[in-house]
Amino acid sequence: MPRVSARDLPDLPKGQLPPHLELQRTRVLCAADAPTHTENIQYAGAYAMMGVDNSFRLDAFSKRFRVEVIKLTEDDMEFDMIGIDPAIANAFRRILIADVPTMAIEKVLIANNTSVVQDEVLAHRLGLIPIKVDPRLFEYMPENDTPNERNTIVFKLHVKCKKGDPRLTVKTDQLKWLPNGSELLIASENTASNPASKPKTYTSFTCSQDSLPEFSNNPITLKHNDIIISKLGPGQEIELEAHAVKGIGKTHAKWSPVSTAWYRMLPEVVLLEEVENEKAEELVKKCPVNVFDIEDVAKGKKRATVAQPRACTLCRECIRGEDWEKRVAVRRVKDHFIFTIESSGALPPDVLFTEAVKILEDKCERVFAELS
Ligand code: SF4
Repeated sequence: MPRVSARDLPDLPKGQLPPHLELQRTRVLCAADAPTHTENIQYAGAYAMMGVDNSFRLDAFSKRFRVEVIKLTEDDMEFDMIGIDPAIANAFRRILIADVPTMAIEKVLIANNTSVVQDEVLAHRLGLIPIKVDPRLFEYMPENDTPNERNTIVFKLHVKCKKGDPRLTVKTDQLKWLPNGSELLIASENTASNPASKPKTYTSFTCSQDSLPEFSNNPITLKHNDIIISKLGPGQEIELEAHAVKGIGKTHAKWSPVSTAWYRMLPEVVLLEEVENEKAEELVKKCPVNVFDIEDVAKGKKRATVAQPRACTLCRECIRGEDWEKRVAVRRVKDHFIFTIESSGALPPDVLFTEAVKILEDKCERVFAELS
């Protein structure tokens, strides 16, 4: 960016920064070699010499802050978060990955496994299968507590490839939900002296989960029915029970409710001068994601335009080469984030975001309570 002499600065209304400083404050400037002005200027007195107050003001924040949903499907969501600090945007990303709870398989009771997949690998694979159930309907299971209908979901898998049959692919559609809890009997308990007592299993459900209003018309399923768990050769068999509990991604990635949650700053591509005819065609060819277009102007002239700035990936191809930095400026808006959430399947992405907001609110309240 060219240096500006103080004598050349225009007279500005009180409280306003000169244009070059305003640009540095609000944009990351991308030069051909590296981006500059990447920092966020937080210090309240940063522009005190110019009579500009840089302190955080709630009224100005409330006026500017907004969320605009660009795309929303069952599995993913893209939205713009405008007028927010990068630290807060990053807090949402981290909360989405690590703090919003889901249900995931934690304990696998293997009655028989003669497949080539070892028990521990099988248990790990099962843990990573997304379960389509609202975790808000369940409680966390305290350590050493008994699994019950409010903190555990039980699935059963029993598959066998008969001798003489072709190899069998075991997929997630063969995992069956057991609304009454575990069916495996605890051997030591059931050989006890009182044979008339009710056989004990690995869970203590007081009622069937499908009798609960939340699940009576909404059975618990897995998000995908075609995930391969294992392959069985003739004569091989798997019999197991998988117990899912509530947890968070901070403990293990299997509880993370998102495949990914990420953001990028809004790109801003500006033509600093008219780019015409052959140069316009050259510019269009430079961009791999078609940010630029050509429009016809009078007398057969062609002129480059910025057609899709949002598609810019900041590859900086358009500003490489002789004099192109004088013609094109590539920038990022520092307080405008394009946020993408890809749900792993437990909750829709918009619900995940609102849960993340609630968790951030709780964290802030806890901090304020400790400080007061
Ligand atoms: S930086 Fe790359 S993607 Fe962005 S406009 Fe220039 S060439 Fe296109």
